[in-house]
Amino acid sequence: MLSWDDEPTSAQRAPQAANLDAAPAAEVAKRVNADDKRIINGETDVNQLVPFKYKWAWDKYLAGCANHWMPQEVNMQRDIELWKNPNGLSEDERRLVKRNLGFFVTADSLAANNIVLGTYRHITAPECRQYLLRQAFEEAIHTHAYQYIVESLGLDEGEIFNAYNEIDSIHDKDQFLIPFIDVLTNPDFKTGTVENDQKLLKSIIVFACLMEGLFFYVGFTQILALGRQNKMTGAAEQYQYILRDESMHCNFGIDLINQLKLENPHLWTAEFKEEIKGLFMKAVELEYQYAEDTMPRGVLGMNASMFKGYLRYIANRRATQIGLEALFPNEENPFPWMSEMIDLKKERNFFETRVIEYQSGGALSWD
Ligand code: FE
Repeated sequence: MLSWDDEPTSAQRAPQAANLDAAPAAEVAKRVNADDKRIINGETDVNQLVPFKYKWAWDKYLAGCANHWMPQEVNMQRDIELWKNPNGLSEDERRLVKRNLGFFVTADSLAANNIVLGTYRHITAPECRQYLLRQAFEEAIHTHAYQYIVESLGLDEGEIFNAYNEIDSIHDKDQFLIPFIDVLTNPDFKTGTVENDQKLLKSIIVFACLMEGLFFYVGFTQILALGRQNKMTGAAEQYQYILRDESMHCNFGIDLINQLKLENPHLWTAEFKEEIKGLFMKAVELEYQYAEDTMPRGVLGMNASMFKGYLRYIANRRATQIGLEALFPNEENPFPWMSEMIDLKKERNFFETRVIEYQSGGALSWD
């Protein structure tokens, strides 16, 4: 237990300011200057969070902490009753839930491993590292949330957790991602050459814009659509918290990409941009297949072709956020209700209202 009675020993006391004032001039000259910090290949001490340079990253860290939640705080009783009721859901709805969880139960582990074992060690801005540590914990909470839903509903764990090996539409998405994790987790990989800096940038783009920013959105929309019809409301509430976190991960990644580009404009060549566009097109194609597989027929008033339109709309948004042209000009959003929850133009508003609701202990509502 924590105790507040003991006086700190001299060894535990903070150093006196006077000692720092007395630092020799040579030491003072080595102190971190905010202007010298860099997102990659920086030479300033990564152990010193301040002086701040990347305030946007620190602000997102604070916002992430303010949004803290845990899966077991959400009541799953109504979902359990609905799932156990033979007439509670259609076969298509059950397939959708199981395929959806089949993707997500391992997706956030991939994201966490990518951050912890890959991206983190190549980023030299301590404010960004601080956010990545928070993000890594949020990925763990999301994996916990999906596991909690699987356990609550009494689903076959072997079936759900192996879906990423056994279901082609899920396996193909993960196989697309894995090379971009492997490159960064390779212990021999080091930034500092144009080729390797481009590899790092490409990996960050794939994760922020295509995995968290695109691959997650069909799945979120499906479960939130169930929630809107008053079905699986506990799972839908969990997904809404996850969506809020993931929107922040995606926005942080986009800020990181744009700052990295600003500091390293030589990486953003015409050839590199073409390669990134190709990856966007491939990701959209893979997600089309996933939409078709999870919804072979129309379900919940949605169908695969609406999702294809939605994917093109989101892909345009992600491309323009990192300075590429829209890939599918003039695409409209077929799910305007999703905009109300995560409105791509009003993300700040969404966060602000939800943050306040969560902090006051209120539940998310579905009106
Ligand atoms: Fe994430």
